[in-house]
Amino acid sequence: MESKAITARPSPMLVRLVEAIAAVAPALADRARIVEGIEQLGDESPMSSAPESLVVEAHSPGEVQTAVSLAARHGVPVVPRGGRTGLVGGAVPVVPSLVIDVSGIRSVRELDISGRYAHLGPGVTIAEIGEMLAPHGMLYPPDPASIARATIGGTVATNAGGLRCVKYGVTERWIRTLDVVLADGRLVTLGHRVVKDATGFDLTHLIIGSEGTLGVIVGIGITFCRAPTDARLTLAAFGSADAAVALASDTLDALTPSMCEMLDAGALAARDTAPIVPLIGRPSEWGDDPTLLMIEVDGSAVDAEHTALLELLEDAGARVHTVAPQDLETVLAVRRGGSAVRSAGAPQTAEALVEASGSVPALPQDVSVPLSRLAEAVGRIRSIASGFERTGSRIAAHLGDGNLHVLLVADPAPANRDEALARLHAAMALIVDAVLELGGTASGEHGIGALKRPFAALDLGADVVEMHRSIKLALDPQSLMNPEKAF
Ligand SMILES: Cc1cc2nc3c(=O)[nH]c(=O)nc-3n(C[C@H](O)[C@H](O)[C@H](O)COP(=O)(O)OP(=O)(O)OC[C@H]3O[C@@H](n4cnc5c(N)ncnc54)[C@H](O)[C@@H]3O)c2cc1C
Repeated sequence: MESKAITARPSPMLVRLVEAIAAVAPALADRARIVEGIEQLGDESPMSSAPESLVVEAHSPGEVQTAVSLAARHGVPVVPRGGRTGLVGGAVPVVPSLVIDVSGIRSVRELDISGRYAHLGPGVTIAEIGEMLAPHGMLYPPDPASIARATIGGTVATNAGGLRCVKYGVTERWIRTLDVVLADGRLVTLGHRVVKDATGFDLTHLIIGSEGTLGVIVGIGITFCRAPTDARLTLAAFGSADAAVALASDTLDALTPSMCEMLDAGALAARDTAPIVPLIGRPSEWGDDPTLLMIEVDGSAVDAEHTALLELLEDAGARVHTVAPQDLETVLAVRRGGSAVRSAGAPQTAEALVEASGSVPALPQDVSVPLSRLAEAVGRIRSIASGFERTGSRIAAHLGDGNLHVLLVADPAPANRDEALARLHAAMALIVDAVLELGGTASGEHGIGALKRPFAALDLGADVVEMHRSIKLALDPQSLMNPEKAF
């Protein structure tokens, strides 16, 4: 059979698997190819290599079942992948694998507006869900900055967050049912399409955030809410990160914002801030340590909450601008752009803007801290980074969630790349230690993937890692589902 192999001498194990697929599902085998290298197998993380693997593009749950059961029979590891926007290498194979790309399973099997339920294929993107619900006045709130490419399957697998999760909660709050292909190829449906569900273990939530290590999600029953009729986004410019964090804490105490985002001086300097300059001035005019907050309030009490917010901002002496509806998307693009560090071969889109770190070594981290420790966390992270020579830090935060995205950059560009990367890793290890000391966690929303496994063990501890292993072995006795990831 034709495997569209691009490697010189494909691994016999993978060739046997293609042949087995061709024997039972020739159409699926036509969409199979053996490839190698990060361009073909990477995501948006800084992973730089990937071993030869067989990629199949599944177009139905049945095709996923066929592929997974044949992989189990041939002892081949399985890596599920969606939109490849992951930032921790979760969808990147680390051993020769069968990569099942489910981004082509894009069915909308049901849309029940009054029952607040829709059944989607895993490849439907988050932006498409928004477009589907908007004409009905409904909203699916989780909104990662990667909405145009991130899939519902991938966001369930990572329990993704986003800008408006401070009020509406992250992905797990909006999932009712999951159809999952288990490691032996069986298809099960978990959960119910009801609001309250106390029957059996909560296996739906076991799968949410499991990063493809327990099965392939092939169908998702989401719920949604009525979209707020009104919302107001306010920009607030501060002369120091301390003042911005203090204001955010006061806001969270007094109000229920639907967005509370922060860009610190490093993050602002790395972005194109042109869209906000006419609204709020140049960051260099704000003070020594320019810091931007983006705070949105919405819902029926929007006028009262907006007035209260403006009073808080005035008391704090911030420069303030409330964004006009026609400027909303350009302003939000300043926040959305630059969360990632590289574009792994995928065409660069406006939604996958990468920070202009170019060839400069950079290391991303996504940590969460308790809200009561936010000020301390921001201070400690910045002071750790500045304690290292030639190391810059950029913090772009879902501040209202206590979720801080830290990018460490070797700045200026180093002569010795390896030495610079080692320095960034050393700084990052200290940052994770500090976050754990403050009662935080190693990942707030991007997951652990391949890149952050050592941090997961530090965070969870040996006993809890052992619990993860026991659960995995019960569902995946050969340990074939996305090996060496997540824990
Ligand atoms: C510019 C940019 C901004 C971002 N902003 C945010 C943000 O605000 N919030 C946030 O949470 N994340 C953000 N991310 C990270 C990323 O978009 C999320 O992690 C997203 O959930 C990944 O979805 P995906 O479809 O691209 O999954 P992939 O990258 O393809 O996969 C991610 C993980 O999920 C697993 N997986 C994928 N599909 C399935 C499936 N059907 N069944 C089982 N496992 C599966 C993979 O094995 C892998 O472990 C951002 C990324 C970029 C590039």
